[in-house]
Parts: sequence; structure tokens; C-alpha cells
Amino acid sequence: MSKVLIIEDETSIAELERDYMELSGFDVDSVADGEEGLQKALAEDYDLIVLDLMLPGIDGFEVCRKLREEKNVPIIIVSAKKEEIDKIHGLGLGADDYMTKPFSPSELVARAKAHMARYERLVSSTQEENKLIEIRGLKIDATARRVWIRGEEKNFTTKEFDLLTFLARHPNHVYTKDELFREIWGMDSVGDIATVTVHIKKIREKVEIDSSNPQYIETIWGVGYRFQA
Ligand code: CA
Repeated sequence: MSKVLIIEDETSIAELERDYMELSGFDVDSVADGEEGLQKALAEDYDLIVLDLMLPGIDGFEVCRKLREEKNVPIIIVSAKKEEIDKIHGLGLGADDYMTKPFSPSELVARAKAHMARYERLVSSTQEENKLIEIRGLKIDATARRVWIRGEEKNFTTKEFDLLTFLARHPNHVYTKDELFREIWGMDSVGDIATVTVHIKKIREKVEIDSSNPQYIETIWGVGYRFQA
């Protein structure tokens, strides 16, 4: 469930915002003080902040500025200040949106959803980039399921690819053959840990210059394997 923090000192407005947000399925916290709001926003993981400008403690501009230095979270300013200059100032400090009071609560919810969806897309596109793994001449495109060794593309079977990618994603971590078997083949699969040994051997033949002296997948005797970063 998405979590929203409302920083608003006017109780009736805070309640109105809370009601609409909760009706839309959000988990809502609200605080009435600028400093307290900032601390809460920094300490917890919210998906959206609804921020008033004129607040006791520190004002909304200051909350916005300090929060933006630390966190990448959508901020919607909802304020009675109607001056264009305030709007520009708020957006300049990193707020994502600016609404003036009196406002339509359903429009606030609609904008909140749009900003959360946009941030989610940003985050997932960053994760998408991480699907390209490059380590010392080995390049794995996890989305296209293609592998290049020192510039030359090599073909891997599905399980070889999954095993190599899993190890490369967790460099310097030692895995036992049992753990690798469960991770790649799954609990209910037919087979045993010798399958892992066979696949490691095949992967090494493709990625290593000298399989007997592996530079990527190292054997930790009596334990298992480790991908060297
Ligand atoms: Ca206020």
C-alpha cells in the first residue's frame, strides 16, 4: 500500500486530505508542524508528501528544500499562498506540483496518483539499466539474455545463462552447490548438485581463457563457488 505523509497545521484541511487519500487506498500519516514533518519524512519511506507552506516550526519551503537534499520522493505543495512567485519558488525548491487552497480533494488525489506513477516509472527504468552487467570483459544483457566475452558473443543454454547471471549479480558471495541448485533449478526439480558442477564447467569453457585457472567463477574447495568481482 502506498504511504502518504500530510504536513498541514490546519486540522480541517488535514482531515479532508486524509479522508480522500484513505478512500483511495493510501496509508496516511499526518503531522501539523514543519520540523516534525521534515523529521518524519526523512525517517520513514513515504511514496508521496503533501505539504502546506505556512507551518509552525519551519515553513514548507524549508521542509521542501531540506527534504529534496536527502530524498527522491514526490512532493505536492498545497497552500493558501496564491502568488505566482510562491509557486515558482516552491517548484524551484524541487516540489513536483503546486495546488492553491481552496482545492479540489479529488484533484489532489488524481495528481498524487500521477506523481507516484511517474516516480515508479523512473525507479523501474533505473532498475532496467542494471540489467546490463559488465565485469572485466564479460558483458551480460539480462533482458535480451545475451552474453559477450571479450567482445565476442557466446551462446548459453537457459540454465547456464541463469547460473552465470545469478553469480555475476552477487559478486564475492560464496554459494554452496545446494544453494545454487535450489536457486536456479528450484526445490522440486529432478536432479542433484552434480548438475551444478556440470553447468559451472560448461560456463567456464565459454567465459574463461584458461578453465583450469578461472578468473570469473572461483571454486571454494569444500564450500562451493564464488564470482570474483
Ligand atoms: Ca498552514
